[in-house]
Amino acid sequence: MDISTRIINKRFGKDDAYGAIAMPVYSNSAFEFDSAEAMEDAFMGRSGEHTYSRISNPTVTFFEQRVAEASGAKWVTATASGMAAIADTFVVAARAGANIVTGTHLFGNTFSLFMITLRDFGVEARFCDMTNPEEVSAAIDENTCAVFAELITNPHMEVADVEKLAAAAHTKNVPMIVDSTVVPWTVCKTGALGADIEVVSSTKYISGGATGIGGLILDHGTFDWSKSIKLKSLSEKFGQMAFSAKLRNEVFRNLGACMSPQTAAMQCLGLETLDLRYRRASAGASELAVFLQTLQGVKNVNYNGLPDNPYYEISRRQFGENPGAMLTFALRDRAECYAFMNRLQIIRRATNLFDNKSLIIHPLSTIYGPLSDEYKALVEVPDDMMRLSVGLEDVEDLKKDLAQAM
Ligand SMILES: *Cc1c(COP(=O)(O)O)cnc(C)c1O
Repeated sequence: MDISTRIINKRFGKDDAYGAIAMPVYSNSAFEFDSAEAMEDAFMGRSGEHTYSRISNPTVTFFEQRVAEASGAKWVTATASGMAAIADTFVVAARAGANIVTGTHLFGNTFSLFMITLRDFGVEARFCDMTNPEEVSAAIDENTCAVFAELITNPHMEVADVEKLAAAAHTKNVPMIVDSTVVPWTVCKTGALGADIEVVSSTKYISGGATGIGGLILDHGTFDWSKSIKLKSLSEKFGQMAFSAKLRNEVFRNLGACMSPQTAAMQCLGLETLDLRYRRASAGASELAVFLQTLQGVKNVNYNGLPDNPYYEISRRQFGENPGAMLTFALRDRAECYAFMNRLQIIRRATNLFDNKSLIIHPLSTIYGPLSDEYKALVEVPDDMMRLSVGLEDVEDLKKDLAQAM
């Protein structure tokens, strides 16, 4: 069956007393037991019953099952945000003395997590050019806990060649972790390309119109954790499940960044229209990228769907005719960007990606604004550049708005 058919018709495990056709929101913290013995069974993980909603909740579990159906992942954990998903992942995979091989072109908070937060715990972010798999391979050593890439770097718009990066990681017995927020599984199965673990900000496409913050950790069950510097001993007991066992039984519970049942219910609904919305937004972005090139004053347009873009071929191979809804373009300088943004009437001045509404931001002065000059030099975000996330408005209306603001 088609992926949307499967997502939409995925049923919840227990029959609802009223025959509800959508998963009810179980807005409770605790679950009651008939006996002390049943309680012990639940707490020992023998019965699979829910005990407390920080650990698991029926609505959230159903959302995780739908995501597993959509992505092909073996084990899925929903989290409070995309950043919680990334933080939990590295608390599981890294330890003091470990390094993460990655690029400097990262989402702002991920860069800050690696360079500031994790560094205080003795974890090193080892930077290399992620568009060069040989360089990635050379950067890996016996203390590397993972190679980490963003599927399309935000806002540099470099498309990761996941197959090549995963091959570089796997030949050195290191797991490949990919942030696949920007392209959904209905278009690209990042796991099938070689990602062992995927992290996603479900705040973006999945939430279905920016309805709330959420994140996901997907474990494809493909990595042999006996080769991992941290999970070697756990793999004796849990085998391929070592990462997810440590995550679910320990790190996720202890850090406590769980998704709320209300958010899970909204995001279940978002999943039903994910493919539809992504394809329309991607088609709109493809048209606007071409249109922006025709406007006087635009210095350059960076979009992986343009045939002269350096990532066009990789993008075609991985995403087919749906290169995504994020693009950047440059004007003369920051002042001109600000003046342009201030004249927009439909496109909103806001952060976030993949809302139904089109959103624009000047990344260097906002997302990367709080970084020190030293770190700003590392992330290399140009001052004359704006990021546009294309929504679901009529594309002709968006063209008119861009043209009048120019
Ligand atoms: C937004 C985003 C994140 C962080 O997700 P939150 O849900 O905001 O915590 C991580 N990675 C990428 C690529 C993002 O766009």
